[in-house]
Amino acid sequence: MQPLSTHNLGFPRIGAKRELKTATEAFWAGKLPLEELLATGAALRKAHWQLQQAAGVDLIPSNDFSFYDQMLDQSCLLGNLPPRFHHAGGPVELPLLFKVARGSGEHDGCGCGATAGEMTKWFDTNYHYIVPEFEEGTRFAVSTSKPFDEFAEALALGIRTKPVLIGPLSYLFLGKGPAGFDRLALLERLLPVYGEILSRLHAQGAEWVQLDEPILALDLPAEWRAAFAQAYTKLKAAAPGLRLLLATYFGELRENAATAAALPVDALHLDATRAPAEVGPLCELLAPGTILSLGVVDGRNLWRNPLDASASLLAEATGRLGRERVWVAPSCSLLHVPVSLQHEEKLDAELKSWFAFAEEKLAEVVALARVGTAQEDTAFLQANRAAIASRKASPRIHRAEVRARAAAVVPGDSQRATPFADRRVRQLAALGLPAFPTTTIGSFPQTPDIRAARARFKKGALPEADYTTFLREKTAECIRFQEEVGLDVLVHGEFERNDMVEYFGEQLDGFAFTQNGWVQSYGSRCVKPPVLFGDVARPRAMTVEWARYAQSLTSRPMKGMLTGPVTILQWSFVRDDQPRMETARQLGLAIRDEVQDLEAAGIRVIQIDEPALREGLPLRRSDWAAYLKRATEAFRLSASGVRDETQIHTHMCYCEFNDIIDSIAALDADVISIETSRSNMELLEAFVSFRYPNEVGPGVWDIHSPRVPSQEEMLALLRKAAAVLPPEHLWVNPDCGLKTRAWAETEASLRHLVAAARAMRGEG
Ligand code: GLN
Ligand code: ZN
Repeated sequence: MQPLSTHNLGFPRIGAKRELKTATEAFWAGKLPLEELLATGAALRKAHWQLQQAAGVDLIPSNDFSFYDQMLDQSCLLGNLPPRFHHAGGPVELPLLFKVARGSGEHDGCGCGATAGEMTKWFDTNYHYIVPEFEEGTRFAVSTSKPFDEFAEALALGIRTKPVLIGPLSYLFLGKGPAGFDRLALLERLLPVYGEILSRLHAQGAEWVQLDEPILALDLPAEWRAAFAQAYTKLKAAAPGLRLLLATYFGELRENAATAAALPVDALHLDATRAPAEVGPLCELLAPGTILSLGVVDGRNLWRNPLDASASLLAEATGRLGRERVWVAPSCSLLHVPVSLQHEEKLDAELKSWFAFAEEKLAEVVALARVGTAQEDTAFLQANRAAIASRKASPRIHRAEVRARAAAVVPGDSQRATPFADRRVRQLAALGLPAFPTTTIGSFPQTPDIRAARARFKKGALPEADYTTFLREKTAECIRFQEEVGLDVLVHGEFERNDMVEYFGEQLDGFAFTQNGWVQSYGSRCVKPPVLFGDVARPRAMTVEWARYAQSLTSRPMKGMLTGPVTILQWSFVRDDQPRMETARQLGLAIRDEVQDLEAAGIRVIQIDEPALREGLPLRRSDWAAYLKRATEAFRLSASGVRDETQIHTHMCYCEFNDIIDSIAALDADVISIETSRSNMELLEAFVSFRYPNEVGPGVWDIHSPRVPSQEEMLALLRKAAAVLPPEHLWVNPDCGLKTRAWAETEASLRHLVAAARAMRGEG
């Protein structure tokens, strides 16, 4: 018996040590010549191809590499750049691509100072892509040679790769156009260009091309679904003899399954980690001869694969289709996981045995393909079974007291004792705040001296006592500053925090941290998410010391500052051995303890940030309600253990509220601060039409830019808000935390903000 064929959908491109980030940023800073950046790219591609070859993967991807983003690469390949970049046709070179990605300054090149392409979340990942822009006059023409060059590059190394392209329908669907513009109308014009690309690749010697159509995992309008058959018939005809692999991922196909299965392609890839139940039905639906590629190894998480379970799923498919028609692969591109476990020297052996990064995932794919053949790697399978068993049983993961507590939660636990209207009266009396109270979102400027001190402390070069003294001094200065400026509810400034999730993860049981677990967030930006591997418990108070110290310095109310359970969940690699929302509940309980400890320490206002609440929404609408129910429950668990007098705030940013406003209201926070200034209060609309019952702080200062808004500007925004919401419910605050701002603009802007609030009160 022959092993099953294996392939990979994409390999992380940043490099195990973020080599690509370093080189790209050096190039942007003018410190590295273009040729050297290109050489770094070529070296990474070569290393990654050879690593995949050594792992034994049969069909290795190319064109999965990118200097910035694969969607932007696709736009450049198709010659589709936003008109504001004045690209007059012809080849699109890398410097122009970077301009589209990052915006072009007034003084460089075209002099137009064009704004960057919009960036948005890639499905439910934390990766962000540059949104293609379309309009009536959009024309396409092959304008880069990237996929051809990379194919040739690999071929010269003796590797016949499978070039990867974003499929035409996903490319159009995930872009944007003017209101009312039908992007699908561009398909006719787009397909010949795709045809040309495919036939060129075929002529170069490509045998397979992978077309990514992840939109097949979304709720698709009927006309988009219907367009698939005709489009793929044309693509197939454009390059007869070239074999097409259509890749779907991130979800079940559901009502799109029949469409996908009937397409005239040679192979169809299914994300079997997200859609295991569709494997059987798809085998029945699949056109005769079409290969089914099963993504059984999770490309979205860093857990070791349960190989026995995956092998039985594969057996189910081979039983129906025969071994020639089943391929083994990761569930999606490995872009979303770190490169290699080899570079982790600090993880203990047990933890490490539970993990698999990109390199280890490919070994799993290959091992699965060989199960039941003469090449079966019994030692590898045995080690896998041992690791899976240890994860199932380890007391570091399974803590009876945590599970018992979560199981004992009753509805009353996630409900404040008294309705908002009554709480409000008590809070007004307890806090004695003026109308239009002013506050900030939490962080104050993280200046270079703070980052330097933290780095030295982490390296062991600065003793803990000195570091603490330094931070206390920063905090004290920040509080004096806020008093002097005249803010009403103060914050301590978050100087002791590196990151709003990491800070809590480091103090909670159930989290681990990697040294090099970097994944690309966008462009050269990478994040190193905490790993939430086990039952979550809070061994001791996390923020109380700082809050107590800060409150001791002022008689004004000090706002305690916490990250909410859903945001912690959303920005971590989360265990896959229990439902995500079960983990959210454990987090909710841990934060609840912290909230109660803050209250006991005399903190009367507590903010629980949930900027990622909306990000967690499932890809399919029909799954939203279940998510929102559990997500709001987790938040409310964290917030509901306090007295009526204690005021709970929450904060959300970069978020549309319209379709989730009822859930936001269901959080029942006494006050919510939101990002609204950038949209000129448009985002407030949802709160108005919903008649949002509690208090709201619509941001009046766009903190994403160093620009200092005038008092009049902020006043105008406040008046706008006061015209549509009960004025007595309004707070005055910036859009978000001030971490990335400098002190000069912070001081000027906050003075204007306080003056605007005073003007609203009629004080001058
Ligand atoms: N409290 C956090 C801060 O001010 C909130 C950050 C966020 O919303 N992303 O930095
Ligand atoms: Zn924010």
